[in-house]
Amino acid sequence: MTKQRIAVDMDEVIADSIARFQEWYLRDYQLELTLDQLQGKSAYQAVALEHQPIIRDYVNQEGFFRDLPVIKDSQQVLRALSERYELFIATAAMEFPNCFRDKYDWLQQHFPFIPWSNYVFCGDKSILNADYLIDDNAFNFERFRGEGILFNAPHNIHETGYRRVHSWQEVGELLL
Ligand SMILES: [Mg+2]
Repeated sequence: MTKQRIAVDMDEVIADSIARFQEWYLRDYQLELTLDQLQGKSAYQAVALEHQPIIRDYVNQEGFFRDLPVIKDSQQVLRALSERYELFIATAAMEFPNCFRDKYDWLQQHFPFIPWSNYVFCGDKSILNADYLIDDNAFNFERFRGEGILFNAPHNIHETGYRRVHSWQEVGELLL
């Protein structure tokens, strides 16, 4: 029997990129960027107008994606899922070309049980052929042929169109 396929996004699903926004914003402006401020917004939308161009450019800078914290329980649950499903990491890395090496190294370090052959550094995720896509950006589900599972993130709280999970424990309950 062929295994079902799960595609998993990186940022704000297994990699905590919000932590990097908070760290750099504090470094550059000595201001805290709180999760409350981020509700329903992208990071740049949550800061003062005059800071927005700088925040918006963070993701293009070298090192933004380096050594990001791992989202809680993602390693343990993905390891369990890898026994039953074919797992792919699918990240829209093409948007930020400086991230390629950092993302690759990060995956090798934190998810050694997922082989490089299952990394998909892509642009438009509708090219994916998987049964499930776990992602924090609902626009990736619009033309996805499988079932989109929305991973809860501050920016997506107003999204209602898809099944939402709030933690990796919840993903485990759903798919294991
Ligand atoms: Mg993401």
